[in-house]
Amino acid sequence: MKIICIGRNYAAHIEELKNETPGNPVVFLKPDTAVLKNGAAFYYPDFSKNIHHEVELVLKISKEGKYIQKEFAHRYFEQIGLGIDFTARDLQDQCKAKGLPWEIAKAFNGSAPLGEFLPVSELKELNNIDFHLRINGEERQRGNTRLMLFDFSTLIEYVSEFFTLKKGDLIYTGTPAGVGPVHIGDHLEGFIGTQKLLDFEVK
Ligand code: ZN
Repeated sequence: MKIICIGRNYAAHIEELKNETPGNPVVFLKPDTAVLKNGAAFYYPDFSKNIHHEVELVLKISKEGKYIQKEFAHRYFEQIGLGIDFTARDLQDQCKAKGLPWEIAKAFNGSAPLGEFLPVSELKELNNIDFHLRINGEERQRGNTRLMLFDFSTLIEYVSEFFTLKKGDLIYTGTPAGVGPVHIGDHLEGFIGTQKLLDFEVK
């Protein structure tokens, strides 16, 4: 199982990090050791002093495919869930400044908490899915798929040109604005609409 992540997919988030708007989706990977499931706690790592939360909608790939055309992309996922793309922003900034890949800042152990999934059939319009993140009961990030630069089908078409998608693979589809630091003791809750799908603590 692999985790494919999309960066810079919401204009307001690109602005807050002062990044350039990409012509194609920005893609990076996380290993399966990044996943935290079933509400498992995230243990704050020693190598960073600035871990940021990025709440993202996650597609679960339901069958194998490559070179998938946009018009057929919807056949390759049956469930949508919520995850956090934890990012060691201090390490990422150091890597970026040196023009180096920032894999260690993104793909470390526990960097991909994953919540429950909803069947696609339960979501009326894929281009109008509302989701948000609360920390200690307070809303921190809110997004809607209509604000994505690249929609689900475009992402699947693009990504499957480079990586064969396999059943069970996950695509983290990018974060909306509002990213910020987490701290030990924080309680994170993620929602699609009003349904809570993600719930865990930072320890
Ligand atoms: Zn992200």
